[in-house]
Amino acid sequence: MKTLTIIGAGISGLICGIYAQRSGFQTIILEKAGNPGGISTSWKRKGYTFEGGIHWLIGAKKGVPLNDIWTETGALRDNNPVFFKDPIYTLMDGDVQLDLHRDLRTLAKFAPEDRIPLAIMRFHVWCFTFFHSPVQDIGGLRVRHPRKFSLMEFIKMGPAVLLTPWLMSFSARTYIKRFRNPHLRRLLEAVVDPEINALSLIYTLSSFTSGDSGYPEGGSLRMAQNMADTFVSLGGQILYRNPALELSQDGVRTADGTLKSDAVVISMDARTAIDKLFNPRLEAPWATRMRRKLRTAQCMFIALGIRADLAGRPRCMQIIPKETLHAGGLEFGALTVNNYSRDTEYAPEGCTVLTCILAGPSYGFWKNAREQGRYRELKQKTTDDFIRILEQTLPEISGKVEVTDMATPLTYERYCDTHEGSYMSEWRPWHFCANAPIRIRKGLYFTGQRTAFSGGLPVAAETGRRTAQTLCKDFDAEFISL
Ligand SMILES: Cc1cc2nc3c(=O)[nH]c(=O)nc-3n(C[C@H](O)[C@H](O)[C@H](O)COP(=O)(O)OP(=O)(O)OC[C@H]3O[C@@H](n4cnc5c(N)ncnc54)[C@H](O)[C@@H]3O)c2cc1C
Repeated sequence: MKTLTIIGAGISGLICGIYAQRSGFQTIILEKAGNPGGISTSWKRKGYTFEGGIHWLIGAKKGVPLNDIWTETGALRDNNPVFFKDPIYTLMDGDVQLDLHRDLRTLAKFAPEDRIPLAIMRFHVWCFTFFHSPVQDIGGLRVRHPRKFSLMEFIKMGPAVLLTPWLMSFSARTYIKRFRNPHLRRLLEAVVDPEINALSLIYTLSSFTSGDSGYPEGGSLRMAQNMADTFVSLGGQILYRNPALELSQDGVRTADGTLKSDAVVISMDARTAIDKLFNPRLEAPWATRMRRKLRTAQCMFIALGIRADLAGRPRCMQIIPKETLHAGGLEFGALTVNNYSRDTEYAPEGCTVLTCILAGPSYGFWKNAREQGRYRELKQKTTDDFIRILEQTLPEISGKVEVTDMATPLTYERYCDTHEGSYMSEWRPWHFCANAPIRIRKGLYFTGQRTAFSGGLPVAAETGRRTAQTLCKDFDAEFISL
């Protein structure tokens, strides 16, 4: 039996570990943090649970290739059925309330002046209905249950493939500008960061409308725990609070000594690894390109535990406040707020959790704040401003906020050591992310968010499986998926 060490028990590391263990590798995962899931996580504060990871899971639809990965790895089970939100987002702009339903035809009733661009958008979204994240078997590998990819499947993906280069060439904001109705524009800006390419907007909308994108009950932590349980039940071992300190010819150095194995998979952020893990620092051409070209997607995350029931409010609100929120050196004229009042596990009876992701490059701001000794003070001010601004739209929360928490890119950096505290790579128009290769040489591999653009759970899943296949091929092992 060959031995394998995986660095990181994030989603990608767990998936790689499960397939490798099933395919005959004796696997140990070293994890820096105290629980599985990496950046896809939730946590408890005084009786409230704050979901800081999964907001939508692509591959939720049975029969699509990505769903096979979620089921084969035990990520989706009976204990976390997937819930499909509808409406997906609700714009709250003064007196105007507008829903984005899974059925996009409803938008034309609200904005008849945009009937034609809406019909074109529905066509673009429809083209992507048959487009699936590529989950293929690599060539030259023995696979017990080979994936079948029919010609018909390929033909159905044709329209999406033809549209892709065009949609990649401009931003979601440019796409949204074709609509005349300002409320419709603001609603669509909730779907993805408007600065990234229009492909992300159309692909995401398509995953909603086709029923491929949902929310597994129990959120990030239950899903990650399910996967960790699968891995351990197969005989794998996870060593929590046990970071890899250095990778050298001798093996992986930890605080307890050096771990030797036939192969090592690096599932921690590859951009961090090339500078911190390798001794000497990795100087391959792709690593140099990555250092120069990588643009990271960063965010702040604010969570509130509220002594009030907000079940009468929409699940996901795109709030246009009267006042702009200044946070992390950025300005926010819209706040996308998730309301967990209908999810009974998140808050005590009669109480509610609200969360908000504030996307944008704020790492430098918070690093500066820490150096000046103002980090806590500025975090508190941001949270206070956020609550004050939110109260203008949701007056029922006034004086009822009893627990608050805020994560900045420095928080993600501290817990998961992701580069600039980011959670994926940024995918701007015509920007190709500088990725790490899956295979460095026989016995040394990467997996996870920096090995394919642009990141997120689909990339973590697909690369986790692909790395396990590459490993099997190198060691002449049969790949066993189930
Ligand atoms: C607020 C937020 C919301 C998100 N929402 C979504 C969503 O709705 N849908 C979606 O698809 N994606 C979402 N994402 C992105 C998604 O969570 C990530 O892209 C994905 O989880 C990355 O997984 P990974 O396994 O590649 O990397 P990571 O999660 O970074 O895993 C790497 C692991 O390595 C560990 N590690 C680091 N250094 C070491 C070391 N030296 N030794 C040992 N272990 C180490 C880390 O602790 C971590 O567990 C969201 C992210 C955030 C922050």
